[in-house]
Amino acid sequence: MPAAEPQPRTIAVIGGGPAGLMAAEVLSKAGMRVEVFDAMPSVARKFLLAGRGGLNLTHAEAPEQFVARYGTRREEVGRWLAEFGPQQLRDWAHALGIETFVGSSGRVFPQEMKAAPLLRAWLHRLRGAGVSFHARHRWLGWDGDGSLRFASPAGELKVGAGATVLALGGGSWARLGSDGAWVPLLAARGIELQTLRPANCGFNVAWSGHLRQRFAGTPVKNVSATYVAPDGTAIRRAGEFLITTDGVEGNLIYALSAPLRDGIEASGDATLQIDLVPERELQRLTQDLAHPRGRDSLANHLRRRAGISGVKAALLYECAAAADLATPERLAALIKALPLCLDSPRPLDEAISSAGGVDFAALDRNLMLKALPGTFCAGEMLDWEAPTGGYLLTACFVSGHAAGLGVLRWLARVQPAKADPHPAR
Ligand SMILES: Cc1cc2nc3c(=O)[nH]c(=O)nc-3n(C[C@H](O)[C@H](O)[C@H](O)COP(=O)(O)OP(=O)(O)OC[C@H]3O[C@@H](n4cnc5c(N)ncnc54)[C@H](O)[C@@H]3O)c2cc1C
Repeated sequence: MPAAEPQPRTIAVIGGGPAGLMAAEVLSKAGMRVEVFDAMPSVARKFLLAGRGGLNLTHAEAPEQFVARYGTRREEVGRWLAEFGPQQLRDWAHALGIETFVGSSGRVFPQEMKAAPLLRAWLHRLRGAGVSFHARHRWLGWDGDGSLRFASPAGELKVGAGATVLALGGGSWARLGSDGAWVPLLAARGIELQTLRPANCGFNVAWSGHLRQRFAGTPVKNVSATYVAPDGTAIRRAGEFLITTDGVEGNLIYALSAPLRDGIEASGDATLQIDLVPERELQRLTQDLAHPRGRDSLANHLRRRAGISGVKAALLYECAAAADLATPERLAALIKALPLCLDSPRPLDEAISSAGGVDFAALDRNLMLKALPGTFCAGEMLDWEAPTGGYLLTACFVSGHAAGLGVLRWLARVQPAKADPHPAR
């Protein structure tokens, strides 16, 4: 194994997703020699995947609403946002030649709705600033002398660094690099961690063979869903979701996924109440369904009097007992609050993001691990979660920014001479 050269002014950034690259940018701008290591053949693969869905970079809502999306972690994320917020993120993209726009829902996207042009311009700028990239370098932990161990195409390497930023991602979409394999490495060093759990995820439902065969892949549009958590709090969201072979997924489900997941953990399952016709009043719906249907089939009656057909009718038959379809009152009540029982979240690897990760108790305000001075963490590997809407990428970018600044503050304190801001080359 090649010996590690002591490189006090070299900063190792491990993980080339949005968080790691942003830390690399802050550090290289300050004149540090930055080496980015990534296990995959190229960096930012999940970021590129996010680009397939339009790349929702951030959100244009008011700062108090924005920060509230991070729930119990609003204080920590708020500190990062105070240094580099959604507007600065848009300005940063603009400086890379990427215009952004605010969609009707307040979500912010690049004009081209893609990640590749932004990533290309960003990597070009980083390389121009002297940042080196080492693909196919899988971090394996630390050697006895504190240097970083990597599995590389040339065999195992030891790397010495003045400071390290870990930006290793969460635990979903392992095939894109973020496989959570860092968890035991940090646990072995006594770092407090919260279990990685699916966030913004789908759920398993025990569909009948009929529903699965006929409707898997079908969207259920213009509905709302209410979840009453075990503590009695009712959360309602409107939108659409998708029937899958194993259950349900899509924006409406993701928006409720954190309380649903927690509810399942607390009580074994969770029941969503689906309003199939949110624009219709219960009383009026009951009156309409009370019209004698004569020789009409129930399917025709539902279509004509309640606008229920196709996948919505199938869901109604699937989730209701036959006897409940008999009276207009009961039928209308079911259409307005159809109970859909969710058994369990889909596996972590399928989720849009992960909850859990490095506990904030393990970190100081500079995002440095208290137990490992000189090692900083950023991005989705930290214990925060947020809904979709641009909040995930924003927190990754801004925590990378915060970790980069944290390294500079720490170096200035512990190694004032070595924190010379002049470039090494
Ligand atoms: C389908 C999909 C769509 C999404 N769309 C959006 C969206 O539109 N808006 C939004 O805000 N968010 C979106 N997200 C979430 C967003 O992409 C992630 O939250 C974000 O990429 C996380 O950034 P990160 O830098 O923390 O980690 P990652 O992007 O996961 O990067 C981590 C990097 O670390 C590397 N790595 C891991 N372990 C090691 C190791 N041991 N050694 C070396 N390297 C290692 C990985 O190869 C990877 O390159 C989406 C996610 C998915 C799955």
